[in-house]
Amino acid sequence: MDEKRTELDRLGEFGLIDHLTSKFTTKQASTTLGIGDDAAVIRISDTESMLVSTDFLIEGVHFNLMYMPLKHLGFKAVAVNVSDICAMNGKPEQITVSMAVSSKFPVEALEELYEGIQIACEAYGVDLVGGDTTASYSGLTLSITAIGRAETEKIAYRSGAKENDLLIASGDLGGAYVGLQVLEREKQVFQANPNIQPDLDGHDYIVQRQLKPEARVDIIEYLKELDVVPTSMIDISDGLASEVLHICKASKVGCRLYDEKIPIDGKTSMTAIEFNLDPATCALNGGEDYELLFTISQSDWDKIKGNPHMTPIGHITDAADGAYFVDKNGSAIELRAQGWDHFEQ
Ligand code: ADP
Ligand code: MG
Repeated sequence: MDEKRTELDRLGEFGLIDHLTSKFTTKQASTTLGIGDDAAVIRISDTESMLVSTDFLIEGVHFNLMYMPLKHLGFKAVAVNVSDICAMNGKPEQITVSMAVSSKFPVEALEELYEGIQIACEAYGVDLVGGDTTASYSGLTLSITAIGRAETEKIAYRSGAKENDLLIASGDLGGAYVGLQVLEREKQVFQANPNIQPDLDGHDYIVQRQLKPEARVDIIEYLKELDVVPTSMIDISDGLASEVLHICKASKVGCRLYDEKIPIDGKTSMTAIEFNLDPATCALNGGEDYELLFTISQSDWDKIKGNPHMTPIGHITDAADGAYFVDKNGSAIELRAQGWDHFEQ
C-alpha cells in the first residue's frame, strides 16, 4: 500500500496552520480568541484580558550570525514578540525564552545574547519569567513567548475593520528589507575577500532597521493618550501587502492602498534605488519593519491628523470592491502578498 506523502510547500505556512488546527475547538469559557490573530486573548476578569503570543527564530532561516551580532539578536527576538502584543492594543508584561543551542557557542556568546534580551526587557518594561534550555545538533533556535494585558473592550483584532475606515501605518516602511540587502552585499564581498572590511557607511539607519527593530509600544501609548481605539490592527512583520490582506480577509472588507502615501524614509529610497529596487515594492513585500498597521473610524481622524508617527495610507472598502494598490499613475492593481514564505527557501 502506498503511503500518502504531501510536501509542505503544497500548503504554505498559513495553509499548513489551517490544515493542522481546523478541527480544534475551544472549550474554556476564558478563551476569547485562540488561533488567528497576533496573540491569543484570554479573559482574566470582567474587564481585562491576558494576551499570549509566541514566535520562533531559527539560525539560517530568520537570522544569519555572520552579520547579526548575538546582542542584537537577543534584542530583536524580544522586540518582535512584544510587537505582537502591541498589535492587539495591549501592554506587554512578561516573556519566557526557550533556546536550543549547539556546542559551537561558548558561554560568552550566550552571555551576549542575554545582554540583548535584558536591554529589551528594560526598554519595554517586561519581566523574564522562565523558559527552557536544551542542546541542538545545529546552530541556535530561540522561541520567545510574550504575555500582555489589555482592557477587553479596547483590544484591536485583525477582524474589526469597517467600510470607510482609514488605513494607517506607523513609522516608515521598507527600511529593514533594504538594510538586509546592504548586509547581504557586504557578506558576499567579505566571503570573496575576507581582508575587505564591511562598508556600511551611510547605511546606519537601514542596517539598524534590520538588526535592531523596535516594537512600537510608544504608538500604543499615543493612541491611548489620544483616546483612539483602532478598529483593527496587525504588526508589519511580513510586508505591508501581506498584512493589509490579512486585515481585509479577517474583516471581510476590501481596501485602496495608495503608493504615494506609503511612508518611506529618504535613506531607504536612496539605497533601494542603488540596488535597482522600487522603494514601494520594498515596503509592500520586504517585511520585518515591525511597524503597526491599523484602521480607525473616520470620526477619529481629527485626533491623529498631523501626528508625525502615523500616516494615512488608504481606506477600507466593501469586500466586493476588492483589495487594490493604486500606483503613482492612478492605476489600481490587485494587491498580492509576496511576503517571505519560509517553506520556499
Ligand atoms: P504571526 O505572523 O503573528 O507570528 P503566524 O502567522 O505565525 O502569526 O500564526 C497565525 C496564527 O496561527 C497565530 O494565531 C498562531 O498562534 C497560530 N499558529 C501558528 N503556528 C501554529 C501551530 N503550529 N499550532 C497551532 N497554532 C499555530
Ligand atoms: Mg508566527
